[in-house]
Amino acid sequence: MKQLTSEMIKKRAAELGAQVCGIGSLELFEGEIPGRDPKMILPGAKAIIGFGFSVPRGLYESMERGAAYYAYTTLGVKYIDEELAEIFLLKMGGMIEDCGYDACLQKAVPNLRIKGDSETNPEVKDTYELSNAVPVSPGKPAPDVIIDFGLAAKACGIGAPGRYGKPLSPKYGPYIRYCFIITDAPLVTDEPLTDSICDGCGLCESACPGHAISDGKLDSWQCSVYYKGAHRSNPFMTDDFLAGDPEREAILNGEKRFDAKSAREIYPKLNFLPQTQWGYAPCLCGRKCDIVCYRHLRETHRI
Ligand code: SF4
Ligand code: SF4
Repeated sequence: MKQLTSEMIKKRAAELGAQVCGIGSLELFEGEIPGRDPKMILPGAKAIIGFGFSVPRGLYESMERGAAYYAYTTLGVKYIDEELAEIFLLKMGGMIEDCGYDACLQKAVPNLRIKGDSETNPEVKDTYELSNAVPVSPGKPAPDVIIDFGLAAKACGIGAPGRYGKPLSPKYGPYIRYCFIITDAPLVTDEPLTDSICDGCGLCESACPGHAISDGKLDSWQCSVYYKGAHRSNPFMTDDFLAGDPEREAILNGEKRFDAKSAREIYPKLNFLPQTQWGYAPCLCGRKCDIVCYRHLRETHRI
């Protein structure tokens, strides 16, 4: 084994472009269901390393001005998660494994849900629940094991879920995306984030054109419909969208409630801009929840 320290990992992460890095113990995962347990991915795991890449403010502000929507989807979502984070993780993983330890790389898995998770991810065309997966032997979880990124960010001290579920960073608020490495390296760990960054102001709730956040919770199916543009403030909305549908007004006003079935029924009609590679849907709500949250956290000096 070669020497590998937490300082070495953080220094290399910064050199490779991560703006945020924290190393967490696995204590917060005790009691986690097997399908989300890091130890089911790496039985000898001792730590989880979290990294964050900020999403430039200008990408949000361009959507708010109604000037450019596609750049956020391609650069702020797809590129960070599908290219930047992947290359970064492979390089970081190589460094850890060259020192003789295991590195299980965890990027976002946008379109898969573990068995029993009936939520969805609004950022992609659709999601698939692994409802037919079965364990390969007794005592093992049904594949794929997908860790909870909100809990992982908290364990690493780099984020904590806010009112609408998104992990908020102490430095960048909601303008950040995360990836992780589970390792058996005996690293010195940071403290988990115990203070909540979210103060429950409720601004995210009133900003959403689809009323997808209520009672402190995000309705992911409702969000998925309005993220894809079924609201009046979508600049690509046309007069013939849902023409003749008696529910058109209620839908455009964000008053109709969608579930998995009705959301999937309307998706084919939400063709305002092309999908990107890997099934990322164009963001046409402008991520108003993130924008008001970010500004509120800055104004109140919480970030
Ligand atoms: S807008 Fe307010 S309530 Fe919503 S996540 Fe941000 S801080 Fe929390
Ligand atoms: S503003 Fe957009 S991303 Fe936020 S909850 Fe509403 S639909 Fe979802």
